Order: sequence, then structure tokens, then C-alpha cells
Amino acid sequence: MGTLEENPKGTADYCTACTSCITTCPVSAATSKFRGPKLVGPAQSRMNFAEPDAEASLEYCSNCKNCDISCPSGVAVSTLNMLQRGEYYRSHSHLLRDHILAHGEKMIKMARKIPFGSFFANLGSDLGRKTGMLKLIGIASKRPMPKYASKSFLQQFRAIKQKSYPDKVVFFPGCYINENDPDVGIAFVKVMQKNQYEVIVDENFVCCGSPLVVTGYLDEAEANARINTALIRKWTEQGYPILTCCTSCSLMLKQEYAELFDFPGLHENAKFVYDAGEFLLELHEKNRFDQHFNHEGGSYIYHAPCHLRVQGIGLPALELLSLVPNLVVENADAGCCGISGNYGFKEDKYEISMQVGQELFQKIKESSTDTVISECGTCRMQIEHGTGVKAVHPIEVLSAAYDV
Ligand code: SF4
Ligand code: SF4
Repeated sequence: MGTLEENPKGTADYCTACTSCITTCPVSAATSKFRGPKLVGPAQSRMNFAEPDAEASLEYCSNCKNCDISCPSGVAVSTLNMLQRGEYYRSHSHLLRDHILAHGEKMIKMARKIPFGSFFANLGSDLGRKTGMLKLIGIASKRPMPKYASKSFLQQFRAIKQKSYPDKVVFFPGCYINENDPDVGIAFVKVMQKNQYEVIVDENFVCCGSPLVVTGYLDEAEANARINTALIRKWTEQGYPILTCCTSCSLMLKQEYAELFDFPGLHENAKFVYDAGEFLLELHEKNRFDQHFNHEGGSYIYHAPCHLRVQGIGLPALELLSLVPNLVVENADAGCCGISGNYGFKEDKYEISMQVGQELFQKIKESSTDTVISECGTCRMQIEHGTGVKAVHPIEVLSAAYDV
């Protein structure tokens, strides 16, 4: 694991105590139990857990990264928090709840080994919720659990007959698209084929590690990072870029691996990893983006995930969708949705997560559209839960506009 000293940008030394991060931290605004990014990140990392109740406050950080976005000195505040959380759990036990939330990929992979595994996994989580078992272990009873798809993206991808093109990209589906929302991956393949790219999927990729990092399993996250980094290097050495449709996955592969860990290849790989929208927008800038849309029109509202905004690549989906004739997309521009990966699934964080999302929920409810667009799978879950309005990935809207 990288240390704070080995990641100089992440050290507290760059903090000028300007307090910008405090004003933009959505959790600080929602609860007084959190001391806020400046004290928990830079200040507490200096003190190295000298205060006995340090983790009690740090526990409230959702890793949404709004502090990183606002810091004028470039301090990776959220990464300081996650490094400290990882350090804490080297000498403290995890809750069963955190173990479950961090290891979704392993559990569903085991379940899929038996016939109707996804059905039984969904049944188990429904029963757990209805009988109060999930609440008993600290999982929010009001929060709908993500449903597993009957066939994973990988299972469906194997059956797709693609046209072969000299240009190829490697798709990193990530756990949520692979296990819960394979339609996004299928739409991605259709859009890339329309743009004369063949899609490669390497079945050896593992979870990017984001759920492990936020629950303090840093060593396991590093093991995943090493596997993915070696695979990314294998493909990029052949000239193939790596694309993801999940903004938390792309953030891990591009940026967080290099902030959290220290082994060869991390910085080099980052240059070849793209958010799908970012890559397609580059195609447009090269006059290579196919604009033959068969299905026009529609009205949507767009939510930019925090993990996209922190990447500093603008809002590529908004720019791409503006190319579809008669398609109206309003930018909600209402901050964090509140769920932050598995944070909003915790019983003691549920109300905070819903409080953080209020401004976005209100904006969506007041808009005249019946569909929200957002790149992040858990943002889409939170939006549907908080508003009752359907949420889709921008690549699904593009695929529908092509009518492929
Ligand atoms: S990552 Fe989000 S919750 Fe954590 S300190 Fe930063 S802004 Fe606050
Ligand atoms: S915004 Fe950056 S420099 Fe300002 S207090 Fe927060 S961490 Fe320190």
C-alpha cells in the first residue's frame, strides 16, 4: 500500500486551512456527527489517530470527493480519509454489514455457480429485508437492495456476434453493470459497433476495488488493483484503450489506484483509461462519431455523478447527447445524490444520504421529464428511490437514438 509520504500530493502539508472543502462537503451540511473534511482529512492525518474517537467521525465520510473538487491546493482530502480508514481497520474488526457491502462481487460469483443463483440471491436479500435481518446487521431497512440480473453482462456478451473492425476497445464492465445492469453494457457494445469499433471484454478483470476501499479493506483493494493494472497494461501495450461506463470504476482505474497504492504501472495506465462518454466525445472531435440517428427527440434531466465531476473531464454525456436532433437534456446541477456507493445502504447513514440528495430530488420532481440520465449505477438507484422517476445511463439513450 502507498503511504501518505509516498503520495506527496495527498499529504496534509498542502492544506492551507482555507475551509473551502467544509463548505462543499454535503455530509458536513447534513449531520453534526461529522467534523468535516479539513479536520478529518488533513488535520487528523497529521495526528495519526492521536485522538481516541478519530474513527467515529471519519466513519461519516462518504468518499463522495466534493472536498477534492473544491480544494484550491489540490489536497486529495478524500484519499487521506480512505488511507486513514484502511489503517484503522488493520487493528480493528469489521462489522458483518461492512463485510457484506464490500464483497458483493465475490458473493454473486459464488451464487451464480448454482442453477438460478441470481434468483436465490435476490430472494435472500428480499427475505432479509422483510424479516428485519438486514436491519439487524446494520443494512438500511428502507433502502431497496440492487437486484441481480438473471444473466450477467459477461454471459450475454459471449452470445453477441460483433462485426469485426480494425479499431478495438477493451471494456471494463465493473460489478454493477456486469451483475445488476447488463443492459448498459449491451448498449455500450451497440454504440461502439455503430462507431465501427469492436469491443473486447477480458473476463479476468475483477472488481475495481471501490467498495473495498470505502469500507477499509485496503489490502484486498490493492490485490484487485494489481490484477487489473497488469491486465490493463497487457491490452494497452497492444494499443487498445480501456473504456468503462461506470464513473466510480473509471475514477479508481485512472486516479485512485495511483493515490492509494504504490506499484509500477499505475500512472502509465491512467492515460489509457476512458469514461465511455469521454472517448466518444474525442471521436466526435476527430469527426469520427457517427451522427446518423434514426430515433430523434425526447426530454430528460441529467445528474452528473460526483465521481465524474472529480475527473475534470467536463460532462461529456451532455455534449454527446446535444448532437441528437430534438433531444432536450437539462442539467440538474444539484450536487451529490447522497448514496456514494455503499454509504447510503448503511442503516446509520441512510437518513444522511437521503438528506444530501434532497436538492437533486426536488429538482427532478419539479422538472417536466419522466426520465433521468446519469452515468453512475448507484446514483440511478438513489434517484429512483428518492423520486420515483426512472433513471438510465446516457449510453442507453445514445443506443436508443441510433435505434440499434
Ligand atoms: S469525501 Fe465527501 S463526505 Fe468525505 S469529506 Fe470529502 S466532501 Fe465530505
Ligand atoms: S480546501 Fe484544501 S486547502 Fe482548504 S482546508 Fe480543505 S484541504 Fe485544506
